[in-house]
Amino acid sequence: MKLEYKIPYRIERGEQTNFSPLFIRIISQGGKQMEKDIKKLISQMTLEEKASLCSGLDFWHTKPIERLGIPSIRMSDGPHGLRKEETMFSKTVPATCFPTAVTIAASWDKLLAEKMGKAIGEECQAENVQILLGPGINMKRSPLCGRNFEYYSEDPILAGELAAHFIKGVQSQGVGTSLKHFAANNQEHRRLTVDAIIDERTLREIYLTAFEKAVKEAKPWTVMCSYNKVNGTYASENEFLLTKVLREEWGFEGFVVSDWGAVNDRVKGLAAGLDLQMPYDGGNGDKKIIEAVKSGKLPEEVLDRAVERILKIVFKAIENKKENATYDKEAHHKLAREIARECFVLLKNENNILPLKKEGKIALIGAFAKKPQIQGGGSAHVNPTRVDDAVEEIKKLVGDKVEILYADGYHIEKDDVDEKLIEEAKEIAKKADVVVIFAGLPERYESEGFDRPHMKMPESHNRLIEEVAKVNSNLVVVLSNGAPIEMPWVDKPKAILETYRGGQAWGGAVADVLFGVVNPSGKLPESFPKKLSDNPSYLFFPGEDDRSEYREGIFIGYRYYDKKEMEVLFPFGYGLSYTTFEYSDLKLDKKEMKDDEVLKVSVKVKNTGKVKGKEIVQLYVRDVKSNYIRPEKELKGFEKVELEPGEEKEVVFYLDKRAFAFYNIDIKDWYVEDGEFEILIGKSSRDIVLKDKVFVKSTTKIKRHYHINSTIGDIMSDPEASAKFKHILEQFASAFPAFSSEEAIMNFAEMMKYMPLRNLIHFGQGKFTEEMLENLLKEINS
Ligand code: BGC
Repeated sequence: MKLEYKIPYRIERGEQTNFSPLFIRIISQGGKQMEKDIKKLISQMTLEEKASLCSGLDFWHTKPIERLGIPSIRMSDGPHGLRKEETMFSKTVPATCFPTAVTIAASWDKLLAEKMGKAIGEECQAENVQILLGPGINMKRSPLCGRNFEYYSEDPILAGELAAHFIKGVQSQGVGTSLKHFAANNQEHRRLTVDAIIDERTLREIYLTAFEKAVKEAKPWTVMCSYNKVNGTYASENEFLLTKVLREEWGFEGFVVSDWGAVNDRVKGLAAGLDLQMPYDGGNGDKKIIEAVKSGKLPEEVLDRAVERILKIVFKAIENKKENATYDKEAHHKLAREIARECFVLLKNENNILPLKKEGKIALIGAFAKKPQIQGGGSAHVNPTRVDDAVEEIKKLVGDKVEILYADGYHIEKDDVDEKLIEEAKEIAKKADVVVIFAGLPERYESEGFDRPHMKMPESHNRLIEEVAKVNSNLVVVLSNGAPIEMPWVDKPKAILETYRGGQAWGGAVADVLFGVVNPSGKLPESFPKKLSDNPSYLFFPGEDDRSEYREGIFIGYRYYDKKEMEVLFPFGYGLSYTTFEYSDLKLDKKEMKDDEVLKVSVKVKNTGKVKGKEIVQLYVRDVKSNYIRPEKELKGFEKVELEPGEEKEVVFYLDKRAFAFYNIDIKDWYVEDGEFEILIGKSSRDIVLKDKVFVKSTTKIKRHYHINSTIGDIMSDPEASAKFKHILEQFASAFPAFSSEEAIMNFAEMMKYMPLRNLIHFGQGKFTEEMLENLLKEINS
């Protein structure tokens, strides 16, 4: 890049100026020099200027400093399309509404998530937006969370992988992302004040892992802290999260921005690692920072550190800004359709009723068919460039060969059952060869700001399905919803297609899948329990007042249903296809390994049906025998492969330590217990088709500290300590003629394995003294 590079920029509302020479140098040079120059720039700032950079200019921009030629950058929501308000609370600019996060998660397609991110990045460039506020990757702990439609999964590996690719896609366009909401924002109920109380292991294994993956693999430019407290401290002032974990452990280098209004104590927040406060709060936070520095309460270096982090991203954003960028609306709409149809999950298909034939009479029933319910409410709500309805798209696809009948069946805006609409629907259903009912959750059911009170569809939808099924058994149900729902009518239709929240091209994508233009290839990124009370968080969700205790621990979603051997409506990872797949040749490149080695796993999958299709190969790991509480199995890898009829491909996975480890709170690190692990290959979490075993040996030595209340069993299970302990045991046993043989001594040790060492004194009849115990402890602890 040349030094004379001059980028015109708008500070706010279109004012044009040029960068200062120092600024130009900074964005021209990058790397170490850039760091030095940013430091130099900071040294030229007054305390007031520095503090001012740590909060927004308005609702969406960072502050400029004209004197130094520092520009302002713009942030906008996300995540499944750009939501850019021109002014506060104004209608947002039209943008492509892509399928929401849970929908893209159902594709299990990493490259597709990346493609979608890239397209959204292009739209950001065209709209002069430098940072997209997303993706949101909080775990879907309860089916009720209002924002479930904009979160990916109940599994951290699936969520983390897809989010990482989405981020790479957006950032490939020179637009930053804001990974949110860090952390444990798993409910909307009292979200600004609630304290998520989560034990350390659960936090690490479930609620932080997706963030960890996305940060390490995709390096988001920014991370957004959540509103809630985590274990007693607001996320916005949580040093453990914002500094220790995010920066020191995971190596995050961007800036942390508050969720809008998440700041509780500005000075504590800054010290803990919260760099930018959003939105502008009238200068209140800045004032507190200035006072704290002046009074010596806050070291100025802490402020400098935040300013440096913010400036690095500001410079990067400006450097990557594409002047006069545009995007092709038609091409993006087409892409939205291509993406959506890869995400739909075929839950049921009796007698291969799908794909439908282009013949006879087809009744389309349900107001959703004409008014698609493509997303949810709140800050993620996109103003689509257009919306395709299913009736029109189906008509376009089938042409004159099919007679299409239509009835509303229910009202979208109210839930009451309208008998007249049901009767109309039944009338057309009687005349049709096949009936397709469009049902699910109206968009108003799912939104930021509140959780759903139950897991049910509106009664008007349930009744419609039951009633229509009475007059025509060739029934297909197409569902629109962003989270699990109960399906009391599940046995009635021959086919069920879950389309989640399919974005603006939903109608066309539905037509494509129903008529076999494409073969459905999505699988559920979450379990569908039969009823809400089956869900593991049910007893504790959403908590009492401002306490939400995650008492189900690591047993979220399938981790719980599997361990409990509980029947579910549809399991995690489940989805059908119009073709069939067979798996063979599972190979592990080792039978035994140390935990610092990598295991290569390969498996072949073949399309044994008559049409082209895509299969999602899932790899789960099971710890066969463990001294710790572990789930039955956990997803550790997945790949989606496309196969022509008769074609076979090999899928390869590489598993490192984390695939076998759990978070050990004693050593505060990931730890693998020596032993056998099963490698399970599944079509879903409940359909494991191949398995093999590997023995993994830990390279971490846990040094245990023994004391008078350590048990005989603890010592006997430690080879080094038990060798030193054996003669003590013999001495103790000599007090009792019954323990004369070695075998008897060992039996005694087994029987007394829960006895603490101090009891040897109590029962040793003077043969075992306090002094001997002290010496023993010295010896085995040395
Ligand atoms: C939401 C964020 C969003 C922000 C800005 C907040 O209420 O929680 O997800 O990015 O507003 O609109």
